[in-house]
Amino acid sequence: MPDARARVLAQFIEPLRVKPGSKVKLAKDFDSGYKASFLKKKDGAAILQAGVDVLAEYQGRLAAQDTWGVLVCLQALDAAGKDGTIRHVMSGVNPQGVRVSSFKVPSAEELDHDYLWRYARRLPGRGEIGIFNRSHYEEVLVVRVHPELLARQQLPAAARGKGVWARRYQEINDWERFLADNGFKIVKLFLNLSKEEQRIRFLRRVDLPEKNWKFSAADARERNYWDDYQAAFSGMLSNTSTEWAPWYVIPADHKWFARICVSSILARTLMEIDPRYPVVDQARRADLAETRALLEAEAVLAAKARLEQAAEETRQARKQRKRMKKVRAELAGAGPAR
Ligand code: AMP
Ligand code: MG
Repeated sequence: MPDARARVLAQFIEPLRVKPGSKVKLAKDFDSGYKASFLKKKDGAAILQAGVDVLAEYQGRLAAQDTWGVLVCLQALDAAGKDGTIRHVMSGVNPQGVRVSSFKVPSAEELDHDYLWRYARRLPGRGEIGIFNRSHYEEVLVVRVHPELLARQQLPAAARGKGVWARRYQEINDWERFLADNGFKIVKLFLNLSKEEQRIRFLRRVDLPEKNWKFSAADARERNYWDDYQAAFSGMLSNTSTEWAPWYVIPADHKWFARICVSSILARTLMEIDPRYPVVDQARRADLAETRALLEAEAVLAAKARLEQAAEETRQARKQRKRMKKVRAELAGAGPAR
C-alpha cells in the first residue's frame, strides 16, 4: 500500500505542478515569493529533515529493487539556488545511489553530436537517482535566447529553420515518453526567482569574498536578457509539462521554502514508485538455507581444527618438557667443570 504520507504531500505540491496542456505565463501564473501560509520558517528545518529521511528510506528500496530509475531535472537562472537545493535535499541519501551531472557550455565533441547526446550519456541507471543540474532544457532556453549558440550546433539548414523550437519541444517530449515507458521517472523542477531577488543575491556574491567564485560579470550581463528568458521559460513550461514528465514551478525567493518543496516532490515521486525489497521466492529461500548450512558447517570445521591444533601444541609442549628434563639431568650428572 502506498505510504499515507504521499497524500498529505500531494495537497501541498499540487499547486506547483504545471497542468499538461495549460498555457503558462510565468509572471502572471506563478509567484516566486510564495510560501504556504500554514508554514513558518522556524518549522522549516524539521519538515525538510522529515523529507530527507523519507528520501533516504525510499532510495534504499529503489536501489534494492533495481527496476526503476529517477531523473530529476533542475532548471533555473543563476543564483536561484540549484546547488544549495541539491546539497540540502540529498543530504541523507547514500551517495552510491545518486549521481549529479552539471551541464555547462558544450564542448566541441558535444557540439559534434545531436543535441540530446550529452544528456543521454548521463542518464541514471535502474535503482539510481540522477540529478541534472541544468539539463536538456538548456537547448530550448539559453540556446533560444542566444541564437548564435544554435548557429554553433552545426545543424543542417532544415533543422535550424522556422519551427525549430516547436520541433525541439516535441522531440524532448517523445524522448522523455520513451524513458518513462521504460522505467525512468522524470521530475522537472524549475526554480522560479524574481529579478529583484537575483539582484540581491548577485550583490552578495560580489561583496562576500567566499562567494566571489560563484560570480562572473557575464552572469550579470545575462540580466539584460531577463524578459527573453521569462518568455523561453513560459514556452518550455507550456509545451513540455506532460503526464509522464510534469514540470513543477518552485517559488525560489525564499530558499528554505524552495528546499521543502523540492524535497516533498522527490519524496512523493519515490512513494509513488513504492519500490520494494525483492521478494524471496522458494528457490532462493532454499539457496539461502543451503548457504546458511555451509556457513555453519564451516564454523564446526574451524572449531575442530582449533581443537586439533591445541592438542598438537600440548603434545609438542610435553615433548619439549621431556627434552628439557633430559638436558637438566645430563648437566647435573656432568658435575662442575674442573
Ligand atoms: P553554471 O551552471 O552557472 O556553472 O553555468 C553554466 C553555463 O553554461 C550557463 O551560463 C549556461 O547557460 C551554459 N550552458 C548550459 N548548457 C548550454 C548549452 N546547451 N548551450 C550553451 N550554453 C549552455
Ligand atoms: Mg553560473
